[in-house]
Amino acid sequence: MTAGTPHDERQLIIHRFEQGATKVIVNVGVLVAGFDSDVRCIIYARPTKSEIRWIQCVGRGLRTAPGKDTCLIFDHSGSVHRLGFPDAIEYDSLPGTSDGMKDSKVQERAKRVEKLPKECTQCHFMKPAGVYVCPKCGHKPLSGEDVEVDSSRGLKKVSKKERKYTKEDKQRWWSQIKYYQRQRTSMGKPVSDGWCGHTYKSKFGTWPNGLQDYPIEISPEVSNFIKSKQIAFAKGREKQQKQQETSEPQIALPSINPALKSSEYLRQHITPAGGSL
Ligand SMILES: [Zn+2]
Repeated sequence: MTAGTPHDERQLIIHRFEQGATKVIVNVGVLVAGFDSDVRCIIYARPTKSEIRWIQCVGRGLRTAPGKDTCLIFDHSGSVHRLGFPDAIEYDSLPGTSDGMKDSKVQERAKRVEKLPKECTQCHFMKPAGVYVCPKCGHKPLSGEDVEVDSSRGLKKVSKKERKYTKEDKQRWWSQIKYYQRQRTSMGKPVSDGWCGHTYKSKFGTWPNGLQDYPIEISPEVSNFIKSKQIAFAKGREKQQKQQETSEPQIALPSINPALKSSEYLRQHITPAGGSL
């Protein structure tokens, strides 16, 4: 049954269905609403992003009828992933009633995403929203496996290796390190030229040869880099100190000295019973 099927023919098909002569009706977009026959199975083959269409179509099978307990719904379109279970789609407020907040629609959508069921990776059972362990097979997703990923933002993965620094970038870094040096000097805690060179080298692997020494105001990027180096240095020194403390030989041997003393004491004070020692 399609939009091109004449009215009379549609009525005939529906009549045959209701009498049980026709078991399955294949339709394209026409048995959406207003078709109230006793339907016990829906094979949903068209994808939709419309909640209304999804609820209306599935609703054809959700009406009660004498002797009917269930309706089987085969969703081949992934609509349940996108829109959720029909009985979970409900609104407390009218969508579109904005109280002046621009992003109310976005928030609405985010709230709906939270209510979506999730497919069990093991048995493909659709777990209701918020259910972690699969009620059907007991599968417990690994941490991170069940995480919602938003791939619509077009974000690029940041990798340190991919970043190529130009001569200008390097000059900018060097100028900011020099700026930092000047700052430290004005605070009365100067750092040496050698420190500047090493800081630069730890970033780029080379000495700042051929770069100008003029300072430019430090950016959070360079400032954070310097901070991280200082923290690493401080931690390294702390570790070194601890190692030195534990590996230092025990010079004072308190247990031996009293023993020596007491044996001396004994030697001096014990008078041999007979003859000399
Ligand atoms: Zn499962």
